[in-house]
Amino acid sequence: MDIRYFDNAATTRVKKEVLQEMLPYFSELYGNPSSIYSIGRQSKRAIEIARERVSKLINCKPNEIYFTSGGSESDNTAIKGIAYKLRKNGKHIITSKIEHPAVLNTCKALENEGFNVTYLDVDENGKIDISQLKNSISNQTILITIMFANNEIGTIQDIERIAKIAKFNNIVFHTDAVQAVGNVPIDVDKMGIDLLSLSAHKIYGPKGVGALYVKNGINFEKFIHGGHQEKNKRSGTENVAGIVGLGKACELSKKYLREHIEKLKYLRDYYIQKIEENISDMKINGHRDDRLPGNSNISFINVDGEVLLLKLDALGICASSGSACNSSSAEPSHVLTSIGLTEDIAKGALRVTFGEDNTKEDVDFLVNSIIHIIKQM
Ligand SMILES: *Cc1c(COP(=O)(O)O)cnc(C)c1O
Repeated sequence: MDIRYFDNAATTRVKKEVLQEMLPYFSELYGNPSSIYSIGRQSKRAIEIARERVSKLINCKPNEIYFTSGGSESDNTAIKGIAYKLRKNGKHIITSKIEHPAVLNTCKALENEGFNVTYLDVDENGKIDISQLKNSISNQTILITIMFANNEIGTIQDIERIAKIAKFNNIVFHTDAVQAVGNVPIDVDKMGIDLLSLSAHKIYGPKGVGALYVKNGINFEKFIHGGHQEKNKRSGTENVAGIVGLGKACELSKKYLREHIEKLKYLRDYYIQKIEENISDMKINGHRDDRLPGNSNISFINVDGEVLLLKLDALGICASSGSACNSSSAEPSHVLTSIGLTEDIAKGALRVTFGEDNTKEDVDFLVNSIIHIIKQM
């Protein structure tokens, strides 16, 4: 059976060119980047090329990139790293109710250590309440962390505006841009972002590697102690092959960004249009315009999203009923309840996220399958 993959927000398939560049670092080029002989130096050079490629994608300096094990570690490092560094100045952090668990649960852990966290509300489209943000700021606030784009409903926040508010109040600003990188043009310099998290496996790179951008001049507490790698901020022998893969994925993302966005938008809009034409009992979740090009999230009224998902799976279709992390739990997604959906409507949600490999024919197959299954139910 053909697999038709519509879960690109959960992970993506590693591109051939990415894998090709990675392979030698598993075999002949196995030197430790800290070693001074030639195969060590070659590994070191490969890491620095990757660092430059990552930096170009978000327009920062190479020395502002720290490699990590992925988006979750980048989020943890950013939030705890700033919180511990600045705890003498204040213990208040502002975030939103719809963050990824890597942010939400890090903030919850900090609450147990005596920090105060404000979780901002979002409106029915998933945008944070800017006036609530302004009103929440006090002289104790040390960090604002708001995701660039949401992994479930695709809503893109007004990052530049939020960054300005943070800067005006002299507060460090971090954004989890794991979903946005490679899908939205990002310029950390122009946008005023202090720290940004990204992950390779969401942009056609390998799992288990990511990066944290930290603007020069912003100091953060290290998270992993050891042998001084990554400017002594993230010790441990580098995941050379993974880092090379991340670098290549970033290079390709930058090169093809415009075409990529066009293609995903086309598939997404075609899908939504077909669903709207054929199914009346539905509701589109997330922002109509300010949303990731490849994201759709639609609630089918009086339909159990989990059952729909299983029936789609039987036809070789991979999609998601909410966040991938939550797909085994029966609780409705915190994101969908935060935008005001009732439990029933939240449970009827189907997240379909498009990627490079999808074709219009795949979308036709998907739409016909959904129509067929819903008619039966
Ligand atoms: C996937 C994801 C993460 C976690 O990244 P990993 O590399 O899987 O740890 C964090 N935030 C968002 C928004 C994500 O989509």
